[in-house]
Formats: sequence, structure tokens, C-alpha cells
Amino acid sequence: MESIDSVFLSVLRSRIFRNRDALSPEYVPEVLPHREDQIKQLGGILAQALKGFKPGNVFIYGLTGTGKTAVTKFVLRRLVLKANEIGASVKYAYINCRQSDTPYRVLADIAESLGIRVPFTGLSIAEVYRRILRGLNEHKGIFIIVLDEIDHLVKRKGDDILYRLLRINEEDIRTKVSLVCITNDVKLLEILDPRVKSSLGEEEIVFPPYDALELKDILACRAKEAFNDGVLEEDVIPLCAALAAKEHGDARRALDLLRVAGEIAERESSEKVACEHVRKAYSEIEKNTTLEVIKSLPIQAKIVLYAIFLLDKKNVKPIITGHLYSVYTNLCKIIGVGCLTQRRVSDIISQLDTLGLISTEIVSRGRHGRTRIIRINVDKKLLLEALKNWRRNIT
Ligand code: ADP
Ligand code: MG
Repeated sequence: MESIDSVFLSVLRSRIFRNRDALSPEYVPEVLPHREDQIKQLGGILAQALKGFKPGNVFIYGLTGTGKTAVTKFVLRRLVLKANEIGASVKYAYINCRQSDTPYRVLADIAESLGIRVPFTGLSIAEVYRRILRGLNEHKGIFIIVLDEIDHLVKRKGDDILYRLLRINEEDIRTKVSLVCITNDVKLLEILDPRVKSSLGEEEIVFPPYDALELKDILACRAKEAFNDGVLEEDVIPLCAALAAKEHGDARRALDLLRVAGEIAERESSEKVACEHVRKAYSEIEKNTTLEVIKSLPIQAKIVLYAIFLLDKKNVKPIITGHLYSVYTNLCKIIGVGCLTQRRVSDIISQLDTLGLISTEIVSRGRHGRTRIIRINVDKKLLLEALKNWRRNIT
């Protein structure tokens, strides 16, 4: 009890954060350094709405943490403010397709943005669509639909919903509709139906990754709002920026590092945030990410990973694909899951390698051909912890 009370006290007494929420991923800051071009581009396209014209559909792409969501929300909020100021009718719906991950949920969210209540389930898609049309016919104006993280929806449910929404202006409605689609997966364009592709990509905006210097500016801006004056030691922001720049320049990663470093300093009753707190934050985040990655693996990949773990534990060295396959098939039998072919298991091994959980190396074995040597790349305790709930099925 005493220890938890002392944690509470440290945090309550701490003067580290002025406004910790300013570092949370949902927070939309007032300034977005190094995104002036993208703001202007998107603003310029959507500005047509202020004059009652339908803006071209926009397709936005870039890796995670490059500011796509923040910029889009920022521009849309400003657009609506301007519209209200001059008496133009501009509305928008923002939908995150990772959260609303079925065509029904997407349409229900659109309906709700128009003030139409839709039950969580129960109506047909056609009925929700009809209600949206009715809503869109009530006023004259422009309605912008933002579909964020659209790759999640399209990969799982196909692009029918996009096709339908893109053709909504052919219906007899008084409101004109524009689409803004955002994707983290640059390859998404390749899997879209050509008709969807051409109407979606009327306008394209690319968000390149940030470099370390840009991340430094972004962090400095956010830190002013989030931390009390003089709390950050000088090297803290450059270190966060450098660490995040190594991982494709992800601003979310950089902000997480800074926030967690602040939280660690708080818990330790430190008056300042120092580089050592950033390093601790880095390994804490790394650990959590690894746990999440392992937990979210499909069952077959978990079995393969566990088979590698068992071989490693038995000190089998080197671990080669042949050994692995026989342990894998045994595990499948114990669990009562169908076995995949050796070829498919090979694919899984490659995926685990790509995820950084294991590393593999191809070696020649003379006349026996080539094989892969496998090594575990993550902390083994962590691996066991991640597979803990799942392993209960085995014993
Ligand atoms: P994406 O949607 O491309 O994955 P986000 O827009 O969610 O990325 O950005 C990730 C985090 O980084 C958010 O907290 C966002 O506010 C912040 N961020 C991104 N770019 C900037 C920027 N230029 N200035 C300030 N904060 C930024
Ligand atoms: Mg986003």
C-alpha cells in the first residue's frame, strides 16, 4: 500500500507536465510545423466548398505518424469555421475505418454526422444509405466525407463501399459530396478497382516521413504546451527526435517517447526530464510494441514462434527449418489445429523475420541444398509473457 501511495504522491506533487494531453495522439495542435505545403494543398482543394462548388476527391497517403490525420482534421475545422463566418453550408464527417471497420459502421457514422440516428445493427445497408440520401437532400451545400485509415476497410471488405460513395452525386440530392481518403499503406492504390482509383485520385497529396531536424521542431512546439518551463534537459528533445527518425520519421513515436519519458520522471519524483528517462521510455515502448505484435499474430504464426522457442530452450543449434517443421506439426496435433505445408510455414518464418521477432540466414549445406538458420530476436521472457494466455490451450 505504501508504495502505491508514494507513486500517487510523486505524480500529484510533480511539476513536470503543464498539460500532458497536449502529447496525446488525439490532440490536434494549433501549429503543425513542416506541413505548411500539405495544409495549403488540402486547404486549396477544399476551399471550393466555400463557394458552393464540389471539391475534387482527395487521396492522401504516407507512412504512419507523418501528420495525415492531424493535418486533415486541422484543415477541416478551419474550413467549417470559415464557412460559418461567411454563411456557406459546409459539413463533414470524419470516420476512422480502423474503428468503424465494416461498410455498415461507415455508413452509420456518416448518417450520424448528418444528425440521423442509426441503430448499431439491424438495418440493411440499403436502408442506411437511403436515410443518408434523405439527409443529404434536406439542405443545399457541400458535405465532405473523410475516410481515414481506409486501407483497413478495403483490405478486409473490398472497395464496394468506396464505389458506392463515389457515385453518390449521381443520386437526386441537393447536397454535393466530396471524399477525402487517407491511407498509411501506399500500395493500396494497386488493389483498388480502376474506376474507384481514377475518381478517388482526382487530387493526390503525399506526406513524406519527417527527418530528425523536423521532428525536433515538432517536439519543441508540442513540448511548450505540455511541459512546465525549464523542466526538459537540453538533450531530451534531440534524443527523442533522433530515436524516432531511425524508425521512418514517425512523429507519433517521437511524441510517445517524450510523453513516456515525462511520466517516468514524474514517477521517479525527478524535477527534470533527462536523457536517461528517454532511454527508459524507449525500452518500455519497445517492450509494449513487441508484446502487442506477438499477441496479435494469427494462431499458426504463434505456433511456429513457439516451436522456435522450444527448440531454442532445448539448446538445439542451429535451428533449421527441418527441425522446426517437425516440432511445429507436433504442436499442431496437441492443440488440435490443422498443419500447414512446409512451404506455408516457410512463408510464416519470413513474416516473423520481417516483423523483427526472429532473424534468419540462408546457408548452403552442400549437396543437401540450402536451408535457413533461425534465431530468436526478442527477449525470451517477453515472448513467453506474450504467449502466456495462448499457451494455456496447450497444457
Ligand atoms: P498519421 O495520421 O499520418 O499516422 P498523425 O496525424 O496521427 O499521423 O500524427 C501522429 C502524431 O504526431 C499526432 O499526435 C500528431 O498530432 C503529431 N504530429 C504529426 N505531424 C505533426 C506536426 N507537423 N506538428 C505537430 N504535431 C504533429
Ligand atoms: Mg492517421
